[in-house]
Amino acid sequence: MLSFAEAQQTMISHSRPLAGEKIALLSGRQRILAETISSPIDVPPFTKSAMDGYAVGIDDPGPDYRIVEVIAAGQIPGHALQRGQCAKIMTGAMLPGGADRVIKVELTRESNGLMTVSGHDTNTNVMRQGEDLRAGSEVLARGTLLGAAEIALLASLGINRLPVFRRPRVGIITTGSELVKPGRPLPAGRIFNSNFFSLAAQLGSMAVPWLDLGTVVDDAKKIERAVADSLARCDVIILSGGVSAGDFDYVPGVLKKLGIALHFQKVAVQPGMPTVFGSRKGKYFVGLPGNPVSTYIIFEVLLKPFIYRLMGHEFRPQLVPAVMVHPFRRRQALRTTFVPVHYHHGQVDILPYHGSGHVHALTRANALLAVPAGTLEIPAGSNIDVGLL
Ligand code: AMP
Ligand code: MG
Repeated sequence: MLSFAEAQQTMISHSRPLAGEKIALLSGRQRILAETISSPIDVPPFTKSAMDGYAVGIDDPGPDYRIVEVIAAGQIPGHALQRGQCAKIMTGAMLPGGADRVIKVELTRESNGLMTVSGHDTNTNVMRQGEDLRAGSEVLARGTLLGAAEIALLASLGINRLPVFRRPRVGIITTGSELVKPGRPLPAGRIFNSNFFSLAAQLGSMAVPWLDLGTVVDDAKKIERAVADSLARCDVIILSGGVSAGDFDYVPGVLKKLGIALHFQKVAVQPGMPTVFGSRKGKYFVGLPGNPVSTYIIFEVLLKPFIYRLMGHEFRPQLVPAVMVHPFRRRQALRTTFVPVHYHHGQVDILPYHGSGHVHALTRANALLAVPAGTLEIPAGSNIDVGLL
């Protein structure tokens, strides 16, 4: 059986980033840059005032100056300053020739076209052309995941079309004869389908488009038809349920029949040991055991890095150092175990967790603790890292 790290590596090594495309700046949030971006301009593009005040020459001591003009933001100054002159200037306006500093308005008095300095300003209150960025300097690397700050930067550089990686189209198939759609009555012996909704929500949080490829009963022919159909429509197929070794678990057989090469069929991970990964000609298949907690956690730890890889981004969970409040113990240490935990102020609480079906425990979790294979116990007080969800 593959170790968790080997499974992660197998998924990465069998996948290639998708092609690039150009999109509008406003659609850039959560997309990934397919090219490194350099600044086309100096930032600021001209030397300007950082304050509302009066622009003066640096070696013009004052304290009285004649006001030769008022410069609003967006205007070009009409005068170069001579000795004894100043220009009233607004924040963001271009500094006139002959000016090197701005005395902020709070430290001045104005009357009859004259300005008198009434206090000492230690700052020059000037932003120099190119002091933030020089034209031609690299600002964002290929592979950068774009958030609001990156969008602000790109906008400030005048860039309105972005080169990004295409997002995979992900199809979700849920299998299980027991599944009932939320909102319908629940007959005896049946359960509500939660995996479809958690997977759609997790993909949605990555801004990855998904397709509902339906819920299929445990029937080999029907599962085969659903997978064959989705191979034509999607880059990635996520299928939940039916991947393990029960009498009605048809998925491994179906994949073989459809010529999808199976790269692994079992991973030394808990929960989620029967996770399946296969591919065929640039299409990828991930089969998840149906237990809702397994589905949720395997998405976070295997699928998320894999899907980001397809989008050209190297995803790393945000790890934070913490101290264990309670001890963690287990009887066997053959697998890497992911434990949903609550992280707060540098401490980690293990949540009461009854196993792979206990979705309620997840709602209180804000981090995952990875317990490596070989570790039987983590005593209370231990220093550990947890990955934020
Ligand atoms: P399976 O992997 O098909 O053997 O399913 C394992 C467990 O997960 C069973 O208890 C199923 O009823 C449950 N399960 C399977 N699919 C779903 C789903 N889509 N939503 C919620 N529970 C599921
Ligand atoms: Mg099933």
